[in-house]
Amino acid sequence: MLTMRDVLQARRTLAGHLPPTPSWSYPLLDDAAGRRVVVKHENAQPTGAFKVRGALNLLAGLDDLGEEVVTYSTGNHARAIAYAAREYGRKATVVMPEHAAELKVRAVEALGATVIRHGANMGDAEAHARTLPGRLVSPGDEPALIAGVATVYAELLERHPELDTIVVPVGSGTGAAAACLVAAALAPGCRVIGVQSQAAPAAHDSWRSGTLVHRGNTTRVDGLATGRGFAAPQELMRAHLAEFVLVGDDAIDEARRLLARRACTQAEGAGAAALAGVLARPDLMGASVAVVVTGANATELELAR
Ligand SMILES: *Cc1c(COP(=O)(O)O)cnc(C)c1O
Repeated sequence: MLTMRDVLQARRTLAGHLPPTPSWSYPLLDDAAGRRVVVKHENAQPTGAFKVRGALNLLAGLDDLGEEVVTYSTGNHARAIAYAAREYGRKATVVMPEHAAELKVRAVEALGATVIRHGANMGDAEAHARTLPGRLVSPGDEPALIAGVATVYAELLERHPELDTIVVPVGSGTGAAAACLVAAALAPGCRVIGVQSQAAPAAHDSWRSGTLVHRGNTTRVDGLATGRGFAAPQELMRAHLAEFVLVGDDAIDEARRLLARRACTQAEGAGAAALAGVLARPDLMGASVAVVVTGANATELELAR
């Protein structure tokens, strides 16, 4: 079981690689949300998403420097592993589904990792990654990823101890699990609320039912496109998550527009999902809410919309 000790260790590990990201609020966005909304800008990371924190922490803990790191992803996890591998001078191979956006593939290759395009979906990509030699990194079931990602919430609560609600988008659940771990330790009165797409509700349904379930996955929001619940994050979410909200993909697009117009910032769909949750369920939110804009990496199609 992860503890704050792991999170503090991760902070020390990350300190040499990444500065803290900004977190502040925007009056026009507060007007739209009907309360103060602190925006935590993980879209300002060098890879455009928070996952780089987990990857830097996990790879820092691997001993055999010669061992290749292997993973599978539609985008941001791939980029995070590639970035961390480059930081530490390691080799990385990423299996991406054939439909992965061209720009996301190029971003991984530009960091020096090898990309193998394989399969129609993440399930196929995972199956292929399992046949490759090296250390396989799961995008969900890795405590070191969760400990790295937890540094987001340590920074956030240190800077804004008055927060009563933190809203986190959920795919596999590492982000929400990390928020639960840190909030329980640093601000037990602060509620953590998860948000997932109605079109990919596996983590939501796993949390509600208390078992790991598989669900259909038709969302167009990349970072939230997960078809199953993951054990390690679900365990932490069961202990501390206060609520879990489902929103539609169109509502997520509307939240992206609001962030662009009222908060000077570009979010990909997954990065805007927390705000969509705040707008969909104002009754669940307190007076001082933080939304984590987890990522910036919108596809050209998303940007056009
Ligand atoms: C991966 C990702 C998420 C979901 O995070 P999990 O830890 O998988 O739940 C949310 N937003 C963005 C931008 C992501 O890349």
